[in-house]
This record gives sequence, C-alpha cells and structure tokens, in this order.
Amino acid sequence: MIVLIDQDGPLAKFEEGFLRIWSAKHPDEVAIPLCERTQFYIKDDYPDSIKTKVSSIYEEPGFIANLDIVDGAKEAVLEMLAADIDVRFCTAPLSNYENCVGEKYIWIEKHFGRELTNRVIFSKDKTLIHGDFLIDDRPTVEGICKPEWKHIIFDAPYNKLQPGKRLHQWQDWRAVI
Ligand SMILES: [Mg+2]
Repeated sequence: MIVLIDQDGPLAKFEEGFLRIWSAKHPDEVAIPLCERTQFYIKDDYPDSIKTKVSSIYEEPGFIANLDIVDGAKEAVLEMLAADIDVRFCTAPLSNYENCVGEKYIWIEKHFGRELTNRVIFSKDKTLIHGDFLIDDRPTVEGICKPEWKHIIFDAPYNKLQPGKRLHQWQDWRAVI
C-alpha cells in the first residue's frame, strides 16, 4: 500500500508558524486565528491591500525549515513504515519556490532523518502521482488526471465544509486507512 502524505498541514504546522511570525512582525495588522480561517490559502483570508505582506512571511528564508511538527505525525509515519506501508511525502512547493524547496527537504531530515528525504515527491499536480491514499488538508485536490488515490482530508477549519473521508488526528490513522 502506498500512502502519500502532504507536508504543510498534515505534518508541518504552517498555519501556526505563519501566525506566530505575522503577529510578531506586524502587531498592528489584523491576525486571523486558525479557528476562523475559511480559505485554503492564508492570503485569501486577508484583504487585498496586505496580501503581499502576508505571503512574504512564508517566503522568507527559514520559515519552512523551522515549522513545528504536528502532534503524533512522526509516530504515525514510523508506525506506517513499520507496517510495510510505503509512505511518500507528496508536497506542492510554493510558486515562489526559492526558499521553500530546499527547506522542505531540510524539514523532513530534521524530523524523520536523512534516509526519509528519499521519499519526498514534489508535484504541483498530485493527481499525476500513483498511490492508494493521499492525506492532504486541501479541501479538493484536482489536476489533469483522475486520481488513483483516495483523498483523506486532514482536518482543518478551512476544509470542514468539504464532505469526504477525514483524519482528525494522527492517532486515528489505522482506523481511517
Ligand atoms: Mg497542505
């Protein structure tokens, strides 16, 4: 069995990382807490006038590499591998990829070790990737192909209206898969 796992959201706390730096750097701007986020892309929840300011936070050097890991994520990945599940980290890089791509590898090495960096797949279109399941916080994952995998939505406030199979926390992975 092949399980594709998205990096930002299911594994790395992108949202929390953004809010922490945003609030520290721009204390006078509105900061939308995670529980009030409704759009998949952070900048889509903010007014047009500050969207560039918003995206500059997660495009900065060090942002991706220093994100915290989601509770239970490391244990779940290691349990899957021990159960002979072929786990692949399937991640779509930011379009302004300059700092993001290298740091995504750094992040995987930091939390899972060098060996597991061989399991990273970068693709802007995840429907091209073969697998049994894709665990992803994006409400709908679309592309040029009809995907082979079944999408398991990794629970987040901005995807709660999307119907489908859902993983609320990593501790439940066995029951959901
Ligand atoms: Mg994601």
